Amino acid sequence: MTRPEDLLHPTPAGLYCPPGDFYVDPVRPVDRAVITHGHADHARAGHGAVLATRQTLAIMAERYGVDFTAQPQSVEYGEATAINGVDLRLVPAGHVLGSAQVEVRWKGLTMVVSGDYKRRRDPTCASFEPVPCHVFISEATFGLPVFSHPPAEEEVGRLVRSLGQFPDRAHLVGAYALGKAQRIIRLLREAGWDRTIYVHGAMERLNALYEREGVDLGPLAPTRDLPKNALGGEVAIAPPSAIQDRWARRFADPVTAFASGWMGVKARARQRGVELPLVVSDHADWNELTATFTELKPEEIWITHGREEGLLRWAEINGQKARALRLVGYDEEDEEALDVRPD
Ligand SMILES: [Zn+2]
Ligand SMILES: [Zn+2]
Repeated sequence: MTRPEDLLHPTPAGLYCPPGDFYVDPVRPVDRAVITHGHADHARAGHGAVLATRQTLAIMAERYGVDFTAQPQSVEYGEATAINGVDLRLVPAGHVLGSAQVEVRWKGLTMVVSGDYKRRRDPTCASFEPVPCHVFISEATFGLPVFSHPPAEEEVGRLVRSLGQFPDRAHLVGAYALGKAQRIIRLLREAGWDRTIYVHGAMERLNALYEREGVDLGPLAPTRDLPKNALGGEVAIAPPSAIQDRWARRFADPVTAFASGWMGVKARARQRGVELPLVVSDHADWNELTATFTELKPEEIWITHGREEGLLRWAEINGQKARALRLVGYDEEDEEALDVRPD
């Protein structure tokens, strides 16, 4: 009988597969990596070979340069492949464009590494697909019952209403450059906002990549060349840190918004001086996490990163076996620092 630990186990460099001799989302440079998605804490530079979806490879090339790995291997969603005799499949995770769960099969044992995921609808990426497995290895960024995300459409609706209420003020929306920014733009389009949306320079290349991948973002323009105090009644999107720095000072009396699952924590919004917190998350909230565990009913749940205590307790109460891997080096809060380039 194959033990799960023989197929995947935590190491300081990340989740390692001994029979396949590869790592999933390694946090240190390794010979062979399988990457779930393009966020900088999961997709790092310096690996010898990288297997990922075509979109994730494109995002990594955009971020680190086209020669970020000597051996890129692109795999379509659902396509069967193998590394050293270990069967692999990438399955949509619903997190950002190109994001995938990694299904690993070997000697009758199936393990699924979720990467980051959500179950909500996202018009900018393929929806999460549940995969039956013996062991489900889940993130837990919002793994506490207090985290209950409202529908993203409602949150963007609040932004649109604020634009109506304050037609003379620029609305600056802080959003991570990969995924969140494009989702907010798409949701604004769905809410009927067809005017030009202004974007910080750090977002232009990823926006163009999303457009090339068929995500229609509508009319966009850079904030770079705008005169001082422009954009009354318009929307500008920037990385979260730019909302508080020199970039924001060019707008007179702006409404500052920040789109993040963390905006559900009022203290965080206050601390950042955010006037319009928008609770929009690309991660599963408590209900999505536990509903996924209930739906999949794996023999074991392993938790990679985030808040595991409540989920371990939940699993115990619900008769599911669970353990925390406590992998280090994954932190969504770091993404903003890594994503910002000068405008
Ligand atoms: Zn992520
Ligand atoms: Zn993550």
